[in-house]
Amino acid sequence: MRIKSIQIFQHDLPVKNGSYKMSNTNVASLKSTLVKLIGDNGTFGWGETCPVGPTYAEAHAGGALAAVIQMAEGLVGTEIWPVPLHRRMDALLHGHNYAKAAIDIAAHDLLGKALGVSVSELLGGALTDRVPSYYSTIVGDPDETARIALEKTREGYPRLQIKVGGRPVEFDIETIRKVWEAVSGTGVRLAVDANRGMTTRDALRVSRECPYIPFVLEQPCNTIEDLQKIRPQLQHGLFMDENSTSLNIAVTAAGTGLVDGFGMKVTRIGGLHPMRAFRDMCAARNLPHTCDDAWGGDIIAAACNHIGATVAPHLSEGVWLAQPYIEGNYDADHPVVIRDGHISRPTGPGLGVIPDESVFGAPVASF
Ligand SMILES: [Mg+2]
Repeated sequence: MRIKSIQIFQHDLPVKNGSYKMSNTNVASLKSTLVKLIGDNGTFGWGETCPVGPTYAEAHAGGALAAVIQMAEGLVGTEIWPVPLHRRMDALLHGHNYAKAAIDIAAHDLLGKALGVSVSELLGGALTDRVPSYYSTIVGDPDETARIALEKTREGYPRLQIKVGGRPVEFDIETIRKVWEAVSGTGVRLAVDANRGMTTRDALRVSRECPYIPFVLEQPCNTIEDLQKIRPQLQHGLFMDENSTSLNIAVTAAGTGLVDGFGMKVTRIGGLHPMRAFRDMCAARNLPHTCDDAWGGDIIAAACNHIGATVAPHLSEGVWLAQPYIEGNYDADHPVVIRDGHISRPTGPGLGVIPDESVFGAPVASF
C-alpha cells in the first residue's frame, strides 16, 4: 500500500479559561498541524502535531508545518508501512521528529482502517480499554493547588503532576507539602514537574526538604548534564521528559541508570513507530513512563491513548491529554475525553476518531 496523496491543514485550538501556565510557557491558543494521508486503495488516515508554544521544546508550530511540507512531495508513492515510511522521511529531512510524528500517526490510522484493526492492535495489542490519565496542575498558589489536587484525586485520577519552577523555590516546597497534606493516604501517585525551570541548587533543595513525600522529580533542570549532576544527591526518583528528544537519548538515559522513568511525548520521539520501540525498551529496563500528547486535538489524543493502552499496567504512568484545556472536539460522535481520571480506548478501526474535516477549512497544501 502506497501514499497516493497528502493534504495538510492548520487549525487554531483555543485554550479554555484564557491560558495555560508552565514554568517557562504561557499559551492562550495553539496552532495544530493536521495531515491527511490518502492511500492508493482510497483509504485515508489522519495525523496531528501541535507544539505547545515556541519555548516548551525545540519544536514550534510554524516549524511543524514547514517540515511536513518539506517532506510531503517526496512521500507520495512511498510504502505506508512504518519501517519504509520512516526510512523515507529520514532521507527527506534530518530530525524534526515532531513533524514526522504527524505523518506516522496518519499512516497508523490508515493502516488500521485498511486492515480493520485498531491502532493499539497494530502496536502489539491493548492491555486495557480504560487507560489511566493523570492530572497536571499549573504553577499556582500552594493552597489552591492542594485543593485542586484533592478534588482531582476524588474524581478518580490515579496520578497527579504538580507543576513547579520559574519562581522562588520556597513556594514550590510549600506547594508540594500542602498537596501531600491534602492527598496523603488516598493512594494517588505524585510527580513534581519543573519543565526544565529549576537550577540544580533548587532541585536538590526540593528533594532534601521533602524527604518523606513520595514523588518523582520530573525534568527539574534544563540539561542532561544538570540531571547527571543532581542524580547522586537526590532522595527521589528522577524522570526525564523534555531532554528525551530521541530514542537514542532515551536508550542512553535508561541504559546508564540516569533516570527512573520518563515523561514521553508521542510527537517528540517521532510518532507511534519509535514510541513502540521506546515502550519495549522501557519494559526491558523495568522503567515506568507516560505516553503523552504534546498538545493537540482528538487525533493526537487518540494516538496517545492507543499506545498507552499497550503499556504494561505496572509501568504505565498514564496518558496526559490537552483535552480538558481545549474547547471543542474534532469528532463530536467519538470525542477522546477523560472521565473519572481515565480514557476509554476508541473502538473503531485505526485511531477510532473521524474528524469533521470542515472544522479545518481548506488544506494549506496538497501533494
Ligand atoms: Mg513533564
